[in-house]
Amino acid sequence: MTFSPELFATTAVRGGVAPDPNTGAVLTPIYQSTTYHQEAVGVHRGFTYSRAANPTVSALEAALGALEDAPPAVCFATGMAAISTLFLAVLKAGDHVIVSDVVYGGTVRLFQQVLANFGVDASFVDTAGLEAVVDAIQPNTRLIFIETPANPTLKLTDIAAIANVAHAAGVKLAVDNTFLTPVAQRPLELGAHITLLSTTKYIEGHNSTVGGSIATRDPVLLERLRLVRKTLGCIQSPQEAWLTLRGLKTLPLRLQQHSANAQRVADWLEQHPKVARVHYPGLASFPQFELAQKQQALAGGMLAFELKGGAQAGIQLMNTVRLCILAENLGAAETLITHPVSMTHSDVPCEIRERTGISDGLVRLSVGLENPADIIADLENALAAIPATAGLKEVEPCLAK
Ligand code: PLP
Repeated sequence: MTFSPELFATTAVRGGVAPDPNTGAVLTPIYQSTTYHQEAVGVHRGFTYSRAANPTVSALEAALGALEDAPPAVCFATGMAAISTLFLAVLKAGDHVIVSDVVYGGTVRLFQQVLANFGVDASFVDTAGLEAVVDAIQPNTRLIFIETPANPTLKLTDIAAIANVAHAAGVKLAVDNTFLTPVAQRPLELGAHITLLSTTKYIEGHNSTVGGSIATRDPVLLERLRLVRKTLGCIQSPQEAWLTLRGLKTLPLRLQQHSANAQRVADWLEQHPKVARVHYPGLASFPQFELAQKQQALAGGMLAFELKGGAQAGIQLMNTVRLCILAENLGAAETLITHPVSMTHSDVPCEIRERTGISDGLVRLSVGLENPADIIADLENALAAIPATAGLKEVEPCLAK
């Protein structure tokens, strides 16, 4: 990759924000106010009511926009609020969307259990294959929504290649860049129209908040997103925005360390006799290793693996670890171990899980900032407690069946 995360170190610390003009406070204060004094009817300083805009949230939006090399972003109460707002802002009944077949489970739930009721049709397509995307485009396709690396199997999509397809078809391309952030992957520069983050993860980075953001260089779309957000009432709160702004300052440093730690853990797991398969874009054995080298500045802090003992062994491992915390979420200082099938992807239909390799035994690991030797020692102890069983079935039976 032609850039290093260090390139964004100054922007992460200083971008878009300045000392508070009223007091000189170096950090933007938490403006915990619902409403704002108007000097006369129709005369105000840009803030009227905190469902529409709030100065602390605006500071976060300016900072994230600077990092994306875009106008101020639009920030939301959660990542799912950002995704929902995007779809409600750009889609109408009768429209069709192409969605990566491996995405965060909440995105699948949104389409299948909510938007389907409003006449929006979604095709879940293996966006790793260009032809499948071209074939899926219909006259009413309005949006291609990809997640790369994808949660939880880490499957990649070639952003530049899909952007070419989208531009040729007159369709918008949105990229969920939550796993890498603009510090390690630059969707807008690769041709995407929209980039989206769950700031809950690496952006805030400390397991302290939930939040989301959308950035685009399209001013009309930005206005539309602000209007829909104000209407739905899903803006970020000032307290959460402040914590996110603080977390953002160390993003390039943290992400580099997360990635270095994940590489160590992935290398170690790959040679372990009880491990059947490791999914990590930094391994030469990863099927899309070359694409990762091309479009990512880092391999990232997320990995997934399966044990030779199958689902039972994977679940036993997750129940046995001590340092790794069994929990949902990712991208924070603590190493979190997650069982996608019963947690983050429980609402993904069995048929999609089987097709996309989200097996019942898949273990997702968000490698944290602890000493990687301690993370490895924890996994080693847990693996030692598991009986060695050969013969992982290619696809596990779906737990929910
Ligand atoms: N996108 C990805 C890739 C995610 O992993 C998640 C949550 O895990 C989301 C979006 C949704 O974000 P939030 O939990 O902040 O609503």
